[in-house]
Amino acid sequence: MKNMKKFIFIILTLLLGGIASYLFFNIQNPIFEKLSPEAMYQRIIKERDYAIDQAITRGDYRCCINPPCTMCYMEANQWNNFTAGTCACDDLIAQGKEPCPQCKKGLCPTCEL
Ligand SMILES: [Zn+2]
Repeated sequence: MKNMKKFIFIILTLLLGGIASYLFFNIQNPIFEKLSPEAMYQRIIKERDYAIDQAITRGDYRCCINPPCTMCYMEANQWNNFTAGTCACDDLIAQGKEPCPQCKKGLCPTCEL
C-alpha cells in the first residue's frame, strides 16, 4: 500500500514535469502557424541566418562578405553553380570573376551594380 502511494507520487511528478517542460518549450518556441506575420518574418530570418552559419561551418558557403550574402542561400544562381544553399563568391573572386550582386555591393557599397 505504501509502495503504491510512492508509485503514484512518482508518476504524478513525472507527468507534471512533462507538462511543465512542454508548456515551457511552447512558450520558448511557439508553433510557427500561430505566430504573427512580423514574428513569422523574424523567425524565418533568424533560421535562415542560422542555416547559413551552418553551411559556412560545413564549407558549403564560401562567401566573401561578413555578414554573408543571403541571395546565394535562397536561390540557385550563376554565382553558386545553380545550387541554392551554397555560395561560391569567394572562389569566383579568387578566379578573377565577379561575385553575386549582394557580395559585390557588400565589398564596395558605393560601386554601381
Ligand atoms: Zn553571394
